[in-house]
Amino acid sequence: MQKIAILGCTGSIGTQALQVAALHPDRFRVLALTAHSSAEKLFELVRRFRPEYAFYTGGEIALPEDVKSLCKWSFGTKALIEAARLPEVDTVLDAVMGMAGLEAVLAAGKAGKKVLLANKEALVAGGALVMELFGPVGNHRLLPVDSEHSAIWQCLEGAHGCQPKELILTASGGPFRTWTLERIRKATIGEALGHPTWSMGRKITVDSATMFNKALEIIEARWLFDVPHEKIRVHIHPQSIVHSAVRFEDGTVIAQMGIPDMRLPILYAMSWPDRLPTGTEDLDLFKIGTLTFEKPDDARFPAMDMARSCLDAGGTACAVLNAANEEAVGAFLQGKILLGEIYDTVSFVLDRLPTLAVREAGDIFEADRRAREMARERIGGLK
Ligand code: NAD
Ligand code: MG
Repeated sequence: MQKIAILGCTGSIGTQALQVAALHPDRFRVLALTAHSSAEKLFELVRRFRPEYAFYTGGEIALPEDVKSLCKWSFGTKALIEAARLPEVDTVLDAVMGMAGLEAVLAAGKAGKKVLLANKEALVAGGALVMELFGPVGNHRLLPVDSEHSAIWQCLEGAHGCQPKELILTASGGPFRTWTLERIRKATIGEALGHPTWSMGRKITVDSATMFNKALEIIEARWLFDVPHEKIRVHIHPQSIVHSAVRFEDGTVIAQMGIPDMRLPILYAMSWPDRLPTGTEDLDLFKIGTLTFEKPDDARFPAMDMARSCLDAGGTACAVLNAANEEAVGAFLQGKILLGEIYDTVSFVLDRLPTLAVREAGDIFEADRRAREMARERIGGLK
C-alpha cells in the first residue's frame, strides 16, 4: 500500500490522480491533499477521499463544520512544505502549477520521499539542484509524470542501459500550429485555451499554444535524462499518439504510444514497475489511421530556441525564463497583454537580467523574484 500526498489536488493532474487512485484502493491510500484555491472543491475531495491531512496553501479559510473534524488542517504557503515531508507519507505527487512547487520537491527529496513530478516548472527553475538531490531517473526516486518524459523513461527502461543517441520529444503543435505569426500574436484567451488534443490547466494550455510548454519540456528532458539539448529534437505530431521516442546508436527508434490522456502517465508513475488498468479506452490504431510528423517552425514559435540559449547560459537563466513566462501568461489570462507580448516579455527580461551561478536554492528563488519583478514592470509599461 503506497501512502500518497497529492500536492495540487484540485487541478487537472491532481483530480486525474485521485480518479486513478480510487480505481485501486488496494494499492493507494491518499493520506494528504493540498490546494491553493477552489476551497469548495478541496472540501468535496476531503469528504470523498478522507485523507488524514488537508492543506489549504492559499491562506486562512473558514472550514465547514463537517470537514473540520474529518482530518488535520494547515494553512498558508508553508503548509505545502509540511505536506511534502509528512512522516507517514512515502510518495509525493507534485501536481502544483508553477515554480511554487520547487521548495516542496526539495523538501520531499530531503525527507527521503519518492516524488512523482508533474510540476515541470520546478525542474526548469531548479533542475541541477533537484537532480543532485534525487539522482538519475533510474534511481526511481523522482519519476516523471509529464507524458513526453514518461514516454522517454518507458523507452529507456526497455533499453537495458544502452545510452540514447537522441531524444525525440513530440508536440501536438497546439491550436496555432498552422496560424501565421501575425495572427498568433493577436490570438484571444479563448483561442489560446482551445487545445486540439489535451485537456489541461489554464497555464499549461497557454504554454502549449505559445510552445513555451515544449521549451520547458526541452529543459525538463535535459535534466531528467542528462542529455544535452542538442540531442533533444522536437517533432510536431498533431495526433498526440506517439508521446515521445528515443533513437539509439544502431538507428533503432523506440517510441511509446497511447491515447492522449494523462491518467496513463500519472498511474504509471504511481504504480511503477507495475501496469494497472486506468479506466480509459484502448488506443485504436485503425481509428487513428495516420500518424504525421513535422519540423517545428522556430520563426513562429521562438520559445524553444530561447530555452536552448538558456540551457547554454546555465546558472539562473532557465529560472529567469520560467519566471518571466509565468508572469506573462498570468497577465495574458487576465487580459492585460496580447499573446505575442508573452514572447516580448520573456525576451525583455532575459536580455536584461544577468545570468548568475547557482550555489544553493536561495540563488534560484532570488533570480525568480527579480525576473517576476522585471516582467511585471514591463507588463505595466505595455498596458
Ligand atoms: P492546474 O492549474 O489545473 O492545477 C494546479 C494545482 O496547483 C491546483 O490544485 C492549485 O490549487 C495548485 N496551485 C496553484 N498555484 C499554487 C501555489 N502557488 N502553491 C501551491 N499550490 C498551487 O494545473 P495542471 O494542469 O494540473 O498542472 C499542474 C502541473 O502539471 C503543471 O506544472 C503542469 O505544467 C504539469 N502538467 C500538467 C499536465 C496536464 O495535463 N494538466 C500535463 C503535463 C504536465
Ligand atoms: Mg507534456
